[in-house]
Amino acid sequence: MKGRKPTIVVHGGAGKWDQNRSQPALEGVKKAAELGFEMLVKGESALDAVVEAVAFMEDAGVFNAGKGSALNIEGNVEMEASVMDGETLRAGAVGLLRDVKNPVRLARLVMEKSDHVFVVGDGAEKLARIFKVERVDAPSEHQLKRYNLYRQALLEGKYDLPKLARLIKDYPEIFSLETVGAVALDKKGNLAAATSTGGIPLKLPGRIGDSPLIGCGTYADNQSGACSATGIGEIAIRLVLAKTVCDRMASGKSAQEAVEEAIRLVNTRIAGTIKSMGLIAVNRRGEIGAAHNSANLCWAYVAPDLQEPVASLTAKILT
Ligand code: ASP
Repeated sequence: MKGRKPTIVVHGGAGKWDQNRSQPALEGVKKAAELGFEMLVKGESALDAVVEAVAFMEDAGVFNAGKGSALNIEGNVEMEASVMDGETLRAGAVGLLRDVKNPVRLARLVMEKSDHVFVVGDGAEKLARIFKVERVDAPSEHQLKRYNLYRQALLEGKYDLPKLARLIKDYPEIFSLETVGAVALDKKGNLAAATSTGGIPLKLPGRIGDSPLIGCGTYADNQSGACSATGIGEIAIRLVLAKTVCDRMASGKSAQEAVEEAIRLVNTRIAGTIKSMGLIAVNRRGEIGAAHNSANLCWAYVAPDLQEPVASLTAKILT
């Protein structure tokens, strides 16, 4: 079989990016895309590339994942991540992690070393100990600073979860939806996807979002494509969004058409839609797609004929 030209797309979340924070975030997605692409060019797998690209963004500290994770309402970290291999449809996911440095690596270990797909909390932390996965002291000063900002807004009645749409509109600067994700196609024609997050700020303890749920935040299938989602997880869960994008690609839509149709679905099917969603995708020919209904989507890609990664704070916006 003729070798495929590798492609990678990464995102750093659909949050509202202001001037101050956007520069390090754009640098972060660019470097993550570059890192993954170099691996793909060397012949490494799409799975390796998405895991390393996401781990890089977890370590960056500027995204809501890994080191930069938002804190829950009790001021604790509860991180989650998932990974999926499009060749075998194997998947691994973790949730409610407090001190694992790279949740995406633990998700991969769940996929490769256990018979399960999704392990959370103490059980996942136990696996992290057994597999000698790197741990960190949490939370950091940066995380606490942001938590206090959210908490203050909550106490002042400005952070009202059921009225999130209004809240994001009025206070975009306090809301961080900066989950990270990556999708890739390798030289062998295999696809993979990975997503990692701290979840939505001030979430209830124990809340699980879309990012670790296979089909909702992450999906990859060599017969269709790969997708990673960002935004309010509850919306992606209700529409099984990442799998929906892959199904559209399977039925002949381009990667771009598929993500746009899925964002339209969010806009039309979820009442009082919170404009928070962003999607990236790649199909089995290496064609890419990116769309959002949020103000921004921080993302980057490297396609076969490009030498340099392209990074941007917007893609196709559908409101
Ligand atoms: N999807 C993530 C969640 O709901 C948040 C995000 O994308 O930033 O946990």
